[in-house]
Amino acid sequence: MKITLILMGVQGCGKGTQADLLEQRFSWKHINIGDLFRSNISNGTELGKQAKAHIDRGDLVPDELVFELISQALAEAEGGVILDGFPRNLEQAKFLDDRVLVNRVYLLELADETAVARISARRNCRDCKRVYNLVYNPPRREKVCDVCGGELIRRADDNPDAVRQRISKFHEETEPVIRLYEKRGILKRIDAGFRAEVVQQIIIEDLQSSGVYESR
Ligand SMILES: [Zn+2]
Repeated sequence: MKITLILMGVQGCGKGTQADLLEQRFSWKHINIGDLFRSNISNGTELGKQAKAHIDRGDLVPDELVFELISQALAEAEGGVILDGFPRNLEQAKFLDDRVLVNRVYLLELADETAVARISARRNCRDCKRVYNLVYNPPRREKVCDVCGGELIRRADDNPDAVRQRISKFHEETEPVIRLYEKRGILKRIDAGFRAEVVQQIIIEDLQSSGVYESR
């Protein structure tokens, strides 16, 4: 049977890191909608071209395209999938319910202001695009990329006000989704303030105790 997990939480809660760790450990597929779009666009697929047209016009990518990408990724994945950042509203949750059985949902909880601090400490290399964090993963030399020597900059949308706006939109959209999964008894809240290894251990123990995954 295919396993479907969902990782939810505000930007900066570390859900991408947790999804990567689970992917490495269990060989399940980490599905991140932003990454899917980027790879489709850089590979020049039909879906990528359609998405790019919307992005270039400054529009949001319509749900139909998002759904098509997710369907494709679900169909290609064997064994299990870890959805990272999807679903983020009730409509997307319904789409998912029509296709898969969601086994467990992990909500990585982080205080809003902690998330703001984490994200606004992010720096990107202007040249190779590598991501640093001044608190968790600082470069060896201030404002200089360790890898290529490029200048480190903060993306315009990582400034505190922009981040606060995204976070409040996130709460507004996802609260109903959280309630849906909570009512179903498949949602577990985890303090995202713990170190990544600790959060991972909590998830793995939950997968075992809830019977989703038997330890071998
Ligand atoms: Zn660089």
